[in-house]
Amino acid sequence: MDDSTVDVDVLVIGSGVAGLSAALSAREAGAERVVVLEAERVVGGSTRLSTGIVMGAGSRAQSRAGVEDDADAYYNDYMNANEWRLPGGVVRAMTAASGETLDWIEDHGVRYHPGLVRGGSENTPRCVAVVGGGEGLVAALHRAARDAGVDIVLDQRVTRLLVRDERVCGVAVGDQVITADAVVVASGGIGASRERLEQCFPEQMAEAGSWHWYIGSDGARGDHLAFAEQVGADITGVVGLRLLHPGFAQTLESYIPGWQVLVDREGRRFVDESAPYGILDRALGAHGGRAFFVFDRQAVDEELTGTSAYRQTYPEDPDRRSPNWNPAMIAEQVEAGRIARGDTVEEVATALGIDPVALSDTVRHYNEGADRGVDRWGKGPAYLRPLLHPPFHGAEVRLATLCWTGTGLRIDDRARVLDGRGDVVPGLWAAGESSGGPMGEVYVGSGGSIANGAIFGRIAGREAARARPR
Ligand SMILES: Cc1cc2nc3c(=O)[nH]c(=O)nc-3n(C[C@H](O)[C@H](O)[C@H](O)COP(=O)(O)OP(=O)(O)OC[C@H]3O[C@@H](n4cnc5c(N)ncnc54)[C@H](O)[C@@H]3O)c2cc1C
Repeated sequence: MDDSTVDVDVLVIGSGVAGLSAALSAREAGAERVVVLEAERVVGGSTRLSTGIVMGAGSRAQSRAGVEDDADAYYNDYMNANEWRLPGGVVRAMTAASGETLDWIEDHGVRYHPGLVRGGSENTPRCVAVVGGGEGLVAALHRAARDAGVDIVLDQRVTRLLVRDERVCGVAVGDQVITADAVVVASGGIGASRERLEQCFPEQMAEAGSWHWYIGSDGARGDHLAFAEQVGADITGVVGLRLLHPGFAQTLESYIPGWQVLVDREGRRFVDESAPYGILDRALGAHGGRAFFVFDRQAVDEELTGTSAYRQTYPEDPDRRSPNWNPAMIAEQVEAGRIARGDTVEEVATALGIDPVALSDTVRHYNEGADRGVDRWGKGPAYLRPLLHPPFHGAEVRLATLCWTGTGLRIDDRARVLDGRGDVVPGLWAAGESSGGPMGEVYVGSGGSIANGAIFGRIAGREAARARPR
């Protein structure tokens, strides 16, 4: 294509963290005409709705907090959590650029709370919490992109890619065509499309049943999957992060109170209930995505009056209380028949359809451990509260809250989109939820998804700016 005839140098689809980072970085790498097309009437996608925790190793924020860390440690944690089943080169690129990307975000006007947050089970804290959460993050990146001369056009849903001579050379929004030297797909996930979810993850959708609840942006309709079909891009990835949900009101509770006792359908425990949500997702997924919480009256009383039993603290809401496991909600849900209540554990078990003997054995062992401050599943003493005080309660929980999805166009370490044979699709890059490869079956912790979007967005923008069709 003759360069002078193209409308823009780099065209970015989507204005979440991946798209804004790609656009900014394309400008910084010398692209003159950079345009972001956003399907919705508001900038920011799921990023805007997020908590705004971002993960990275070797950042200035870590230095300020006196924490020593490096990309190798992050890489090893990441790969170990995912049993080394991920494309190591892509994860290597992500972890290597993570610290500098946290600095880069800060350099563009995003402010971090002092100190660090633990995202998951990492020994070294490596997450920052953005002041103002996801809105704060998007507002600053949006401003920086505009100041850098990026055009952001809302209400423009890209309907297809333009392809000429086997190279992606622009996009179409309905009948309107925009030609470009390079296109970056940063259009988010598939969570808002029930059809796409059923198609990609029928088993997980069946497990959640009518309790399924997607909490991300309406714009996440999986349009990238259609783009992939158009150019033969390989699709890869994971369902994403699912949180345990009791099917009460649609309230978000990422971590569960550590005092909960979680048993499978046989009435047996299978995990440390205080584990990070990414681990609980994986552990419960291996048990069919459905299980039961069992607790006594005292646990609920203490949740109301004692210190928070959440393992993760978040600076914008340090005294967070459980929206589900509090006296008012419990009374309401007992009334509605969603929580079973009884004078004995066996009574509760019978009401839940669990073997009463098995559940009573489980609770007895749990209580014996709690007395000694030792738990068979390794839960820390701070969360071990014996179940002694009737009435006892039990409720079903499912992996039903879908936070983000990780199924998209397979990328390499330079965010280039690959086809089914592993070859690069010329002219096309992808980042964030609409890409596939960096995210594993185990979500390593809070901050992992925004980091993925920012890091590969940056890489994609830079690479796209430098690539000129020959
Ligand atoms: C409540 C909540 C809390 C979260 N908290 C955290 C957290 O603290 N840390 C973390 O790491 N992750 C968190 N996540 C996940 C994280 O926010 C997202 O995975 C991440 O921000 C996705 O970024 P993205 O740029 O890939 O997609 P998005 O931010 O969703 O942006 C994609 C954009 O593309 C647009 N788009 C879609 N199709 C088209 C099209 N055809 N044409 C044009 N535009 C299109 C969409 O409208 C959207 O605006 C959270 C998610 C939620 C919902």
